[in-house]
Amino acid sequence: MRIDLHAHSNVSDGTQRPADVIASAAEAALDVVALTDHDSTDGWAEAAAAARELGVALVPGMEISCRTSEGISVHLLSYLHDPDHPGLLEEITKAKDARFIRAERMVSLLAEDYPLSWDDVIHHVAPGATLGRPHIADALVAAGVVADRSEAFDTILTSRSRYWVQHYAPDPAYAVALVRDAGGVPVFAHPVASSRGRIVGDKTYREMIDAGLAGLEIDHRDNPEEGRAFLRRLAQRHGLLVTGSSDYHGTGKPNLLGENLTAPEVLARIEEQGTGSSVVR
Ligand code: AMP
Ligand code: FE
Ligand code: FE
Ligand code: ZN
Repeated sequence: MRIDLHAHSNVSDGTQRPADVIASAAEAALDVVALTDHDSTDGWAEAAAAARELGVALVPGMEISCRTSEGISVHLLSYLHDPDHPGLLEEITKAKDARFIRAERMVSLLAEDYPLSWDDVIHHVAPGATLGRPHIADALVAAGVVADRSEAFDTILTSRSRYWVQHYAPDPAYAVALVRDAGGVPVFAHPVASSRGRIVGDKTYREMIDAGLAGLEIDHRDNPEEGRAFLRRLAQRHGLLVTGSSDYHGTGKPNLLGENLTAPEVLARIEEQGTGSSVVR
């Protein structure tokens, strides 16, 4: 069984429609794929229809952008939650709105130094999609400022850049509790991905575990080897599930579907714990 529990469509910052992500999952010989767009479940219906047609099982999911009180970014994966849970819906709506305003601010700062307009950015965003820096990167690529998204993230769009603006994001322990309340299974995405910015310390792990964290995404290309050993010990000590995933974004990132996989027993545990929606088969 080939199971990949982290993929994005153009409902957020992936480059393919949800149905095409499922088609790519079939081509990559996956048996199971999770659609985990940032702060949105809008792709679930289209992905589910494609999954039934193509014989790939779909785990409906989402990736929630969070921030600790120390200002450290945390990504939380949620599987099998109720997409209509009022508290969770309110939180992701708030985040999506904040991302829009934040992107406008970043673009106006960038426009002082680069040939970039708001329209250029919107051109790369599917209607209703969760706006992110990758869309700004696409406009910078089109303007010839950088060669690809990765170059944009390595230079002018890093979180250390003077063009970077922060947006509202919930506290990670609060998000864990909300996901559980919505019947979902919360998994800490790429926890030690230091290339993306500062990583959290013991206090945040403790708070997230106390709030009901289910698992850690350990096998992910952005987690360095030393960090993975630490995470494995943490998972063992607290009985957390261990997942492995690609974080596929279509052509928006080098990550390939199936480059990391999750064990079938772990998926079985996730399915047992997830009561807000069901795996589509
Ligand atoms: P944002 O949520 O708007 O701050 O943008 C962060 C998102 O950009 C992450 O969730 C990734 O999906 C994406 N991202 C981060 N680094 C890269 C990269 N090097 N190339 C392409 N996309 C990236
Ligand atoms: Fe992303
Ligand atoms: Fe992420
Ligand atoms: Zn992701």
